[in-house]
Amino acid sequence: MNGKKLPVLATLYLAQGLPFGFFTQALPVLLRKDGRTLEQIGFASLLALPWALKFVWAPLVDRFGTQKKWIVAAQLGAALVLFALAMIGGGDLDALLAAAFFLNLAAATQDVATDGLAVRMLEEKERGLANGVQVAGYRLGMILGGGVLLALYESTGGRFTFAAMALLSLLALAPLLRSDESPPTVESRQAAAKLPWWRPGIGRILILAFVYKLGEAFASAMLRPLLVDRGLGLTELGAMLGTAGFLAGLAGALAGGFLTGKIGRRRSLIYFGVLQASSVAGYALIASLEHASLAILYAVTSFEHFASGMATAALFTVMMDASRRERAAGDYTLQASVVVIATGLASALSGVSAGALGYRDHFVLATVLAVGAVFAAAYLYRRPGRIAIYAGSFDPPTLGHLSIVERASAMFDRLIVLVAINPDKKVMFSGAERAAMFAEATAHLANVEVASTEGYVVDFARERGATVLVRGLRGSADADYETKMAHVNQSLAPELTTIFIPAEPSLLDLSSTRLKELLQTGADVSGLCPKPVLAKLRLVADE
Ligand code: ADP
Repeated sequence: MNGKKLPVLATLYLAQGLPFGFFTQALPVLLRKDGRTLEQIGFASLLALPWALKFVWAPLVDRFGTQKKWIVAAQLGAALVLFALAMIGGGDLDALLAAAFFLNLAAATQDVATDGLAVRMLEEKERGLANGVQVAGYRLGMILGGGVLLALYESTGGRFTFAAMALLSLLALAPLLRSDESPPTVESRQAAAKLPWWRPGIGRILILAFVYKLGEAFASAMLRPLLVDRGLGLTELGAMLGTAGFLAGLAGALAGGFLTGKIGRRRSLIYFGVLQASSVAGYALIASLEHASLAILYAVTSFEHFASGMATAALFTVMMDASRRERAAGDYTLQASVVVIATGLASALSGVSAGALGYRDHFVLATVLAVGAVFAAAYLYRRPGRIAIYAGSFDPPTLGHLSIVERASAMFDRLIVLVAINPDKKVMFSGAERAAMFAEATAHLANVEVASTEGYVVDFARERGATVLVRGLRGSADADYETKMAHVNQSLAPELTTIFIPAEPSLLDLSSTRLKELLQTGADVSGLCPKPVLAKLRLVADE
């Protein structure tokens, strides 16, 4: 891996975690000391709303400017707010609340752009480790913010702390400014604008993002209350979850990310999912024991944090794979928001569940959900396959076309037969008719799908993530023309490669035009076109 990428990402994720960690720890305490009501303190968590809603403005990051510019702007904005706080000393609680909101807005936007940058600059094999670093960097930032900076605040007051945070926000930009990001081209930006957010296959990944961390979040939210009820004090809790658990989570994220790059996405999701579920079962075990020694509590909680970190790194890597480069920030953020919403929902409902079921059964239920995550991963995750497109007028489809489809479908994970609709061309069958005939003729091929477009084939290919264009070659005349077309398409879409498949020797002279000519002379064409086409031709002839 290019040695520069990891430090860039690590510092940026760390920079997001810093203020977030500080404010989530500090605000409830400061608000309570100031005599605010519990309701007000509860509502203060709404200040983190930008994190849940960032998918709304994420597409703008792909559309305008570069990711680097967005990151720099967001960090500068954060530094400005922090400097302002340093000036007024942080004594004004309402100013502090407003600042917390704007810092969340800036950090969430920085996150959107950084995720997009990561998708664009990382090779597929680098993504595992990079996601480990992402999770670890963010957690480290949170702990530094909630621990070290909070201690600094207590001992030296607001002015110094906020000034230090502002400086750190600026420093975090250094690795990024020294790296060189190739800005997106005008074409790729236009392509991004045209890409719809929905694409085939993303439904599965979104469901996976929703369920994969559900059981774990459902369990973790009730861990502290359980331990407090078991008589653990704040200091012990801090050491167990804040220090030991935190370090285990950090190690788990790095190990999980590294392993995801080695053993593959599918296996990682399943193995780490199993670990995650068994670690949640550990909580059920603690809850069912009359008395659990401190050693057991340490072991179980650390293992859970470790497994959770592993699982998260694998999930984030899969989410990165599912993001298109042209729309990286928007694609990734949508998935990340689904994770945030799912885990938020699970945490919110965990109290109701534990209250109604009691701790033990609550954790058993969480275990069931976590086991479900493993099945969901096994069922939902498919390795993103190689998609090829076979395009033509197909007016009507012939056995020559079908033979190309049969051979191409054996070579690729998915083959899309694309009926090109050209309103200026005189045709015998409408686009819908041609598509319907081809669909019927290829019904026996499970990985073949028929679609039609009035637009450019390269645009369609981009939309579907296809990387190969299949063409049939009947002879030297085809070869000349097809080679030129291949060059044109390559210049339009460099990621798209054209491959040629030679025609069957017996079908060298067959074309749709020839088929229609033969039909007019009343010749028997039953050996030249697929059965559904023949049926349709007879129907037309009878009319
Ligand atoms: P277009 O829409 O390009 O005019 P067609 O719809 O006839 O052409 O064909 C689409 C593709 O199928 C082209 O790659 C063409 O070379 C290929 N093809 C056409 N007829 C045959 C055949 N008999 N055998 C193999 N390939 C063929």
